[in-house]
Amino acid sequence: MCGIVGYLGEKEAFPIIIKGLQRLEYRGYDSSGVAILGGASGLQHHRKKGKVEALLTEVGENPPSGHLGIGHTRWATHGAPNDVNAHPHLSGDGQLALIHNGIIENYHALKETLTERGHEFYSDTDTEVLVHLIEEVLKSSEDLDLFEATRIALNEVVGAYAIAVIDIARPEELILARKSSPLVIGIGEGEYFVASDATPIVEYTKNVVYLEDEEVARVSLTSGMKIRTIRNHKVTPVITELEMALESIEKGGYEHFMLKEIHEQPRSIQDCLRGRLSLGHNTVRMAGIDDHEPMWKDAKRLIIVACGTSWHAGLIAEYMFEDFARIPVEVEYASEFRYRNPVIGEGDILIAISQSGETADTLAAIRMAKERGAHVFGICNVVGSSISRESHSGAYTHAGPEIGVASTKAFTAQLTVLTLVAMRVGELRNALDSQRRNRLMVELESIPEKIQSMLDQDQKLASIAKVYMSAPNALFLGRGFNFPVALEGALKLKEISYIHAEGYPAAEMKHGPIALIDENMPVFIVATQDAHYEKVLSNIQEVKARGGKIIAVVTKGDKEVARIADHTIEVHPSDDALVPILSTIPFQLLSYHIAVMLDRNVDQPRNLAKSVTVE
Ligand code: GLU
Repeated sequence: MCGIVGYLGEKEAFPIIIKGLQRLEYRGYDSSGVAILGGASGLQHHRKKGKVEALLTEVGENPPSGHLGIGHTRWATHGAPNDVNAHPHLSGDGQLALIHNGIIENYHALKETLTERGHEFYSDTDTEVLVHLIEEVLKSSEDLDLFEATRIALNEVVGAYAIAVIDIARPEELILARKSSPLVIGIGEGEYFVASDATPIVEYTKNVVYLEDEEVARVSLTSGMKIRTIRNHKVTPVITELEMALESIEKGGYEHFMLKEIHEQPRSIQDCLRGRLSLGHNTVRMAGIDDHEPMWKDAKRLIIVACGTSWHAGLIAEYMFEDFARIPVEVEYASEFRYRNPVIGEGDILIAISQSGETADTLAAIRMAKERGAHVFGICNVVGSSISRESHSGAYTHAGPEIGVASTKAFTAQLTVLTLVAMRVGELRNALDSQRRNRLMVELESIPEKIQSMLDQDQKLASIAKVYMSAPNALFLGRGFNFPVALEGALKLKEISYIHAEGYPAAEMKHGPIALIDENMPVFIVATQDAHYEKVLSNIQEVKARGGKIIAVVTKGDKEVARIADHTIEVHPSDDALVPILSTIPFQLLSYHIAVMLDRNVDQPRNLAKSVTVE
């Protein structure tokens, strides 16, 4: 959204600005404009609705000439996308031209005050108010220059801005400022570039200064660069160099290990809950936590590290820990975490999740966290594995050997352990409401039965799989607790069928994936009746409106989604936090059936290893 480009130097500004605007086109916009300041020609001002091409047509055969200029691609927030509202905007006296990215939240109050003082406005934008405000300040005292006037004016502004301002009377300087919207200044040989990001700058110079929030800069051909905060503190510019760079040993009558393991889930979850959840005693017990109660109670933060499917379990756990225990959580890919310089130490608890307990990157992350003084809690499936040995405390998932490379039962067992851990920590921190805790306990007890009823829909899932087995791409969507389920659904499908699949939070669809939707795109979406239900319904409509096919996981008895979706798969109603253990099952089965229909090696998909012991 929105692009800002500016140039000050010896070259012609217009071609540089137009090229820069074109480089920023990927950001999206609805109109564009330029203001070029050139000697006798004065301020040449062009604005046009539509693409930069339309602006070029408008400009015609005689492009504006001059060595100082600003250009803008606008993504309208205040006022329709038309020629008049396009930037740059001019001050009342026509002396100043300004481009702006962001929103001036208090523009209305400012506009009233300025109107009382005689200012007249031609556009509906918040931006025009800002250029008038700067003009007003500039005229209030002869001692003020444009830099000072802009700095003072910005103290009156509430909102977000990246701005560039030029003044007919000051052809040697360009004034810039930012708050919450990006602005990069490129420093060349006797020239300056400015842009919303580095893409328009990199072909001219690698030396850039990233303006920080509430900083105002002046770049001048005679006096160089000067930066102050809007409260008038001096800032020394920091010049940065741009850098544009995974067998139990029998199949037990099933055709594949993966199918066997999918069907083992009611039992593996029961095994996982055994000895931990007791409705009779009304207790949740987790040895690895009970032995360290004060530490969990006072922990400052949890950092979850994992890879692949385990990382998805970690993401769901983040929602649970925040919800049940009100504790800050970070979820990290182990491979990234270990090579950073993470801020971690005493008071932090690192939760490491790994099916095999041998995952090289996760192990390395554990070692690093231990060295820095954090407590390590390991969650793994393989008893006696390296991670179980190297962790200070932990919990086994007790899912039994998982042979299929694509993790299924280990994932739902991880979710079960993480639910118990989050509940226990929530109790210790007095953050989990007792009614909810009791409800969760009862529902957890019934999860194996509910999983069985999902598995009983296998034939239906096989027939849905048949419809979509030839799709080249698939999209998986979910929100809240079910967002990571979407990620996991996509991962499962691509791992074993080699169909390109992506998982997204449903609301993010509009930010890219929606471009892929047509009648050939199956969209698998979790649309259970939870806190996000209404929103997900809208997302489903957005897909349908573009011809996409909807395969929705819904709460038993749901009629709304069934009306719109091409297929529905029902899950029993459950606490929002427990739905992922259920909603992930149909995605496992769908992926399995599609892979079988495509004659893939389901248990040993190409290029994958079960236990990733190399980094
Ligand atoms: N709020 C301003 C407008 O509507 C700037 C929008 C933008 O960032 O492009 O004109």
